[in-house]
Amino acid sequence: MQEMKTPKKSLLYYCLIALLIIMLLNIFVFPLLQNMHVQEVSYNVLLQMADDKNIGQVEIDGDEILFTDKDNKQIYTTGTMNDPDLVQRLYDSGADFRTITTDEMSPLAYFLFSFVLPTALFGFFGWLIFRQMKKRMNGGANPMNSMTFGMGGMGGLGSGNAKVYVKSADGIKFSDVAGEDEAKELLQEIVDFLHAPEKFRDIGASLPKGALLSGPPGTGKTLLAKAVAGEAEVPFFSISGSEFVEMFVGMGAAKVRDLFKQANEKAPCIVFIDEIDAIGKKRDGSLGGNDEREQTLNQLLTEMDGFDASKGVVILAATNRPEALDPALLRPGRFDRRIPVELPDLKGREEILRVHAKKIKTAPDVDLHKIARTSSGASGAELANIVNEAALRAVRHGRKSATQEDFEESIETVIAGYRKKNAIMSDKEKMIVAYHEVGHALVAAKQTDSAPVEKITIIPRTSGALGYTMQVDEADKTLLTKQELLNKIATFTGGRAAEELIFGEYTTGASNDIEQATKLARAMITRYGMSDSFDMVALETVSNQYLGGDSSLACSLETQTKIDEQVVALVAEQHKKAYQILSDNVSALHKIAKHLYEQETITGEEFMHLLQSQ
Ligand code: ADP
Ligand code: MG
Ligand code: ZN
Repeated sequence: MQEMKTPKKSLLYYCLIALLIIMLLNIFVFPLLQNMHVQEVSYNVLLQMADDKNIGQVEIDGDEILFTDKDNKQIYTTGTMNDPDLVQRLYDSGADFRTITTDEMSPLAYFLFSFVLPTALFGFFGWLIFRQMKKRMNGGANPMNSMTFGMGGMGGLGSGNAKVYVKSADGIKFSDVAGEDEAKELLQEIVDFLHAPEKFRDIGASLPKGALLSGPPGTGKTLLAKAVAGEAEVPFFSISGSEFVEMFVGMGAAKVRDLFKQANEKAPCIVFIDEIDAIGKKRDGSLGGNDEREQTLNQLLTEMDGFDASKGVVILAATNRPEALDPALLRPGRFDRRIPVELPDLKGREEILRVHAKKIKTAPDVDLHKIARTSSGASGAELANIVNEAALRAVRHGRKSATQEDFEESIETVIAGYRKKNAIMSDKEKMIVAYHEVGHALVAAKQTDSAPVEKITIIPRTSGALGYTMQVDEADKTLLTKQELLNKIATFTGGRAAEELIFGEYTTGASNDIEQATKLARAMITRYGMSDSFDMVALETVSNQYLGGDSSLACSLETQTKIDEQVVALVAEQHKKAYQILSDNVSALHKIAKHLYEQETITGEEFMHLLQSQ
């Protein structure tokens, strides 16, 4: 969909033309009209003409002298001089002292030129703009077009000035959205309803009024809505939540009214509100609350109640903060259908990669399944980015198509940043990083008896990572046991444990590991009920499930102290365990770390091979 900017452009354009015309009139025409017959001359001319007795009438008016020639044909003007003899001299020349009337414009003409004409001009251009906008609105009403409605420049509060979006030629269809089958199925039902409402009416089913797409950023929510627009073949009104938020109280509400008025006229149709949390946040009675936002939200709630779903207005909305939305929005009859759009699983990732890889040239050796395996946790947007980075890398290396190597490198680029070109890392540092990374992998491998990693590298990245361990996606587990979580914590501490064991001291390299281990241990105690003393009590609430998962404690101070103690104990125990595992396998650690130090990159298979050939 692309926005047609023309109405806005022509507004500015006409205003500029009108201004230009008025400026030209002011500079050239008006002065001419005012002083049509008066000619400015120097004082010499006056004296000369007086000497020649060639002066008809004369008037001395303050610091200006007006005079005419003998035949009163031409009026001249000049400044006064400190010349006491002037009057005598003029008198001698036979000049006639009197008031001279110049041909200045009459007050009426002056009024006409300086006031009526510009006003009329402005009015004329205004009318032109108005006509053009009206034409555009009517022209855009073709059902295949999708539109977005906002307030234009001139109509003032909430009057129906529409920004028109037309569907671009490369309309997005459901086939462009990979994975997310559940979401597609639910949305397909809505599309079917809009195509053949009688089928649903016959059986007495009424369609949900609204559906809310919620999920982490980059999982394809906006893309899905666009696909619905592409499939639906009904008008599609699209607006972003932030577009409702205006400086002045009441404007947002007016926009909502306007939007729904238009939607009702065009029914059946779809209204899509992207990033709805911008207006749909919980209303709280706190001081300094946002009046404008609350009014807009109230208006939205009222409008959603007010229209008849059987008419066929379906409201889609997208957000990545569903928990922040006002409960009133989510009750049945409004957004009663919640469509989760989650991060893709292994299969989904492969499909997304396939959809995007179709757009670039790939070498026959490319194994998208393997790429999908190594990119666990990546969102659709990141996968699209990985494919594009691979293509860019191929061009950089003068290849005609992207190879498997391009893809593998681009995953690391997207996740960990570019290779640092000339990172200065001493041999000692490189050695420490090698032992650190192998420490993680070895602890993981010894606990599960399987290849824990896809790849280990110790090539510094622009993100600041000195080494990088690519984890294997364990067949998309959704449930984790307590033992598995403990193992994970042990794995996080494995890096530091290896440094301690081999070098007898430690570095700052473990800061990220520490953060993750702590987070996990804390969650086990406060949210998963895996502590010894708190049983199944929630001590923490998560507020931003899709955006990093911030959490806030909900317990007494004494309990907080106990939690802290337990977290420390839990991590310390796993740290000890990791240290023990490494010291039991210290020869393997030496061997693999040395290999990694030399090769800089080893694969999961090589790792397992080295470990087993002990
Ligand atoms: P958000 O959920 O944040 O609205 P978008 O819909 O804007 O995410 O997705 C951004 C981009 O990521 C899309 O334009 C598309 O290229 C890619 N993408 C995300 N999810 C998918 C998917 N399921 N299939 C194909 N491409 C996807
Ligand atoms: Mg979006
Ligand atoms: Zn580490």
